[in-house]
Amino acid sequence: MKSILVTGGAGFIGSHLCERLLRDGNEVICLDNFFTGRKDNIIHLLDDHHFELVRHDITREIFLEVDEIYNLACPASPIHYQYNPIKTVKTNVMGAVNMLGMAKRIKAKILQASTSEVYGDPGVHPQKEEYWGNVNPVGKRSCYDEGKRCAETLFMDYHNQNGVKIKIVRIFNTYGPRMLPDDGRVVSNFIIQALRNMDITIYGDGSHTRSFQYIDDLLEGMLRFMGTPDDITGPVNLGNESECSIKELAGLIIEMTNSRSRLKFLPLPDNDPVRRRPDTSYARQLIDWEAKTGIREGLKKTIGYFDNLLASGRMPRSV
Ligand code: NAD
Ligand code: UDP
Repeated sequence: MKSILVTGGAGFIGSHLCERLLRDGNEVICLDNFFTGRKDNIIHLLDDHHFELVRHDITREIFLEVDEIYNLACPASPIHYQYNPIKTVKTNVMGAVNMLGMAKRIKAKILQASTSEVYGDPGVHPQKEEYWGNVNPVGKRSCYDEGKRCAETLFMDYHNQNGVKIKIVRIFNTYGPRMLPDDGRVVSNFIIQALRNMDITIYGDGSHTRSFQYIDDLLEGMLRFMGTPDDITGPVNLGNESECSIKELAGLIIEMTNSRSRLKFLPLPDNDPVRRRPDTSYARQLIDWEAKTGIREGLKKTIGYFDNLLASGRMPRSV
């Protein structure tokens, strides 16, 4: 049995990861400051003797004894990471220093949840790990993009300078149950709008693309990559290779929910990447992994989740 720390463990990805790690027979410490995380996401785990919850902010030091660390703490949606951009940078940079310092002291292996945003508005398509990116250092998204880029640098430097065992995964757009209904992300927005027969808000003309990965595929990739030999550091892309325009996504969600919603076109936010699709050949070769869940299958489960949430009346007032 391994002892594993998940920072950001009460968030969307973190809560699924805690659940999966417990199911696989590990001791799990979930650390979160509850900025975007919710107790509801992990309440069903609290009675498990192998699960522990710590309220803490990773911009401050902490001393814990574990074998592995998954560093996920950081708001992921543009609305939330732009709410307090200085805090977003601090979480990424000071948080990485604190977690890496702890990993160094206790000789733990540490995985960083990086992002496709390190590629910015990409000049090459699809994006391979070797591509250095096209990121605006002074735009609205910079606190997140540059924060994550600096965190990657810190991870690599702690590895090269201090021999810390690191793993960097670059996660592409991920969706599934427990996404926050009010985080403004495209999948949750469109599903809620469609279920309520409200206008579907498309930013721009809807021709820009993303590649949507279902949560279960991501977890499998993260776990397999954590298990690779110590000299393998990444970065490795984890995402679904099938690319979809935002307008196509809207059409699909309208069809699958039998919605009467209509499309409403709004201005595209500044620095919104035009195209995004991972090249995952490195993950295929390294860990025999690819995202297998098709968009219809993943959306069906996600729509079911939001349908239940709406019926339960537990939606935030802001939505
Ligand atoms: P989320 O907002 O649901 O979860 C982030 C969690 O981190 C929340 O529980 C939040 O309360 C916690 N947190 C934030 N700042 C903290 C701090 N200073 N100290 C302690 N806890 C803190 O987001 P998510 O979608 O689950 O994303 C998890 C990680 O994966 C993030 O690092 C994100 O950048 C990365 N990622 C996510 C996606 C995606 O599509 N969801 C894509 C790329 C990368
Ligand atoms: N988007 C949209 N309507 C919405 C929410 C988002 O058209 O109601 C667009 C957004 O501009 C972006 C894409 O959908 O081009 C994905 O947005 P999201 O915030 O989910 O992820 P990210 O931009 O971080 O990839």
